[in-house]
Amino acid sequence: MVTLDHASTTSNFIRNIVQEDLDAGRVTEVITRFPPEPNGYLHIGHAKSICLNFELAHDVGGKTHLRFDDTNPVKEDVEYVQAIEGDVRWLGFSWDDLCFASDYFDEMYRRAVLLVQKGLAYVCDLNSQEMRELRGTLTVPGQDSPYRNRTVHENLDLLERMKQGEFPDGAKVLRAKIDMASPNLNLRDPVLYRITHATHHRTKDAWCIYPMYDFAHPIEDAIEGVTHSICTLEFEDHRPLYDWIVEHCEMPSRPHQYEFARLNMTNTVMSKRKLKQLVDEGVVDGWDDPRMPTISGLRRRGYTPESIRNFAREIGVAKSNSIVDGRMLEYFVREDLKLKALRTMAILRPLKVVITNYEEGKVEWLDAENNAENEAMGSRKIAFSREIYIEQDDFMENPPPKYFRLTQGTEVRLKHAYFIRCEEVIKNDMGEVVELHCTYDPETKSGSGFTGRKVKGTIHFVDVQHAQPAEFRLYEPLLLDEDQKDDEFLRHINPRSLEVLRGYVEEGLQDLQPYTKYQFFRHGYFSVDPQRFDALHPVFNLVVPLKSSYQL
Ligand code: ATP
Ligand code: MG
Repeated sequence: MVTLDHASTTSNFIRNIVQEDLDAGRVTEVITRFPPEPNGYLHIGHAKSICLNFELAHDVGGKTHLRFDDTNPVKEDVEYVQAIEGDVRWLGFSWDDLCFASDYFDEMYRRAVLLVQKGLAYVCDLNSQEMRELRGTLTVPGQDSPYRNRTVHENLDLLERMKQGEFPDGAKVLRAKIDMASPNLNLRDPVLYRITHATHHRTKDAWCIYPMYDFAHPIEDAIEGVTHSICTLEFEDHRPLYDWIVEHCEMPSRPHQYEFARLNMTNTVMSKRKLKQLVDEGVVDGWDDPRMPTISGLRRRGYTPESIRNFAREIGVAKSNSIVDGRMLEYFVREDLKLKALRTMAILRPLKVVITNYEEGKVEWLDAENNAENEAMGSRKIAFSREIYIEQDDFMENPPPKYFRLTQGTEVRLKHAYFIRCEEVIKNDMGEVVELHCTYDPETKSGSGFTGRKVKGTIHFVDVQHAQPAEFRLYEPLLLDEDQKDDEFLRHINPRSLEVLRGYVEEGLQDLQPYTKYQFFRHGYFSVDPQRFDALHPVFNLVVPLKSSYQL
């Protein structure tokens, strides 16, 4: 099981319910489940549900199942099953049982037969359009289907023939016989089974009728002995139906459904359907594109499981929907990496500097601590010689007031090295600055205790001869609009969501391998991209910039 980083015992209304059920002896062992449909990759919203379900049970010595709700073969695939398992494990959780709704298809069918025998379900020939018309509205009661009074005998026969594949898709459905005048539309004879001639990724062609979510889910929960079935708020109005199914299907246990608010975040979309659209239309480079709010995207970007778990705990569990500021997630990864990441120097937009009074051919190895806030991370030596790279924007020809970096005739401190003064600016034919000629002052060596004079600016550098070429990928939010309620999101894509730069890092970076995280001095946290990793040409993903105006 996961080691709990933050206290996970912050109370919330679901925890309180669980505790009351235990105290009152209504349950002896708490069993929760995380029930994804394998029709896409998991996103950060799912992470909220995963953390809630696993931690809730874990904290009271209970169990959690990972259950695939694979009742819709048309949209589901083993690729998604495998990705989901990997994501849950990566987040730090291990399930007590791995379950598939499709393992219960026989049991579900038996329950459907049982409902028919009890006169509580019937086969209906209306198509979905006709059914909608007869369903009524919130203010108008529904009307009975003309097929509602078929005999038990006829219904049993038709259901069996539906199962045998005698009818095409959509020709018939099995419906619960509840109440067409119920104020709750979900109770107006909901569909329990539909005909879908499709090959299922596990049961193959054994079935051509598949259960609807509202019928399948309570049965799955009850078969597994789930005590607290937690889902998102949209299902609140489905709860009476959930209870109706459990009650009439003679289930071995009595689960209860509880609803909480789904996570929404600014400047992104949060539904597998919309995320799949981004992938299918080539807006992003796959489900694990670092701009995606998927678990795999966040992992590739450089987020840590700890940061996601801490975020999920902080946002808590509420009963009303709201939108969380995306920068809150950034806050948690910054906090997590602060003491863990090696602090090193990278030049994203290189400008060459020649130190004209530095001896040709000489190289000095200067001391540099690996993390100024965590001494245990030790130190390393960095190269310094006559030619170095600095950032293009650390030099300005016509600086605004209070610009403390390099300008012609002024002095700055090079991190871990010396003061340099800019003497001459070299330009190309187009008038662009291509090189600086500077002098250094040997007296000012870092750590030498020099107090002769002060400079206001400190900039970073990488030695030209000891520079490792690297690619940097900088990200901005995928969507320009904060709030994405509609289906228009494809028109709000941020054209600047990805910027690719080619520059340098220090040669011989410690631990250079996929997913290693570094803090590049003055830039932010970066993580080594795992795709087609090449130590000679590493690609670094910006996880998060160093600073944000966001306060927790
Ligand atoms: P999506 O619309 O993204 O496909 P879903 O609810 O259809 O979401 P499922 O695979 O059915 O996806 O969800 C598995 C579990 O994750 C469910 O219990 C669901 O309530 C929960 N979940 C899904 N999205 C969120 C979210 N944004 N915030 C919190 N929990 C979520
Ligand atoms: Mg779904």
